[in-house]
Amino acid sequence: MNPPTPLRRLAVKVALASVCVGMAFTARAEGQTVADIAARGACSTAGLEGISQQLADSQSCMRPGQFVRFAPHPRITLSSSRVHPYLQASARDAVHRVADGGTSLTINSAFRTLADQYVLYHSGGCGLAATPGSSNHQSGRAVDVGSYSSVRAALEGAGCSWLGSRDPVHFDCPGSDLRSDAILTFQRLWNVNNPGDRIAEDGLYGPQTESRLGRTPAAGFATDLCVETCERHCEGDVLVDAECGRGDCGAFGATCADDALGVRCVSVFCPAMGEADVCLDEGQSAHCSDGALGEPMACPEGSRCAGEGECVVDRAPVDMGTGAEGDAAVPATGDAAVAVGVDAGADPDVPGFSAATGGCSCGVPGTDAPAGGVFAALLLAAALRRRRR
Ligand SMILES: [Zn+2]
Repeated sequence: MNPPTPLRRLAVKVALASVCVGMAFTARAEGQTVADIAARGACSTAGLEGISQQLADSQSCMRPGQFVRFAPHPRITLSSSRVHPYLQASARDAVHRVADGGTSLTINSAFRTLADQYVLYHSGGCGLAATPGSSNHQSGRAVDVGSYSSVRAALEGAGCSWLGSRDPVHFDCPGSDLRSDAILTFQRLWNVNNPGDRIAEDGLYGPQTESRLGRTPAAGFATDLCVETCERHCEGDVLVDAECGRGDCGAFGATCADDALGVRCVSVFCPAMGEADVCLDEGQSAHCSDGALGEPMACPEGSRCAGEGECVVDRAPVDMGTGAEGDAAVPATGDAAVAVGVDAGADPDVPGFSAATGGCSCGVPGTDAPAGGVFAALLLAAALRRRRR
């Protein structure tokens, strides 16, 4: 086995980096479930941030414009970073009328996802909590406020109704009934991530939906409901693909190019367009095709790569061509140096050149994986797929 060259070391690093990306990808879907969070018995959605935000994002993607932000506002304070600052526009207008009129509001809860409601309901720690999918918080028209007695009159004056002493912090503000959309959002997100265990997408909260919601990873699913779309482009050395995946060409010994051939990673060894033979280092050459680097080829023993990807020997070699089979033309460049063509497919009859491997040992030490540009391009494509969110 040849000693590792810089290119092979890079290929090994790339392979290891790819493994790490894969591990990070799967880690997101492991760990606690929504039911585990509820089983703590606390009236809190702490630990649920991943799936909660994914459901909120999914619903806003499924129903663009359905909810609007009501915060930040100079007189509105959210009691926790876990409060989703979304309401229907009519409810937002009511809350803003109160705040604009000089009453400061502390909001403890506004729009809640189905997973939020599941945890609050099943924890048993919240006193009063509606069953998942039945709360007006899922419609984005309810708010729970701090110091309710001091803001009640102002909220009622803006059109919000107080639920009464059984849930004194809760006000229902103007808006329509969108509760089934919160359920539907979960059902669709579940199905996208569990194609082998699909459930009805009916917007109804039944036993099927409840059991899947409990088994849902608290950190969120691996695949989002809506795939973002982007125009392929370069951001420095980073290639952003059509699904907004980001791949760092720089990590693969390449730069990002955007030209007549499209957006792609171009090897730093290669011209962006056209065919060329290049030297990777003193001992290896490779062929470039429109910026893509082919597999490296080792120069025969006793020669070195020079100029435009040619392997040359510094001393005149033993006369191998004369009187032999006449298959190895050894062109001289200058009076002492001799160049040996090592294009792919060539079969120079030179000691040290292995016809069996096409002149190069392309394997990464310890693996069966090929090195070089083709391998790097495959890994980049895999990384791009994995880095989508
Ligand atoms: Zn409430």
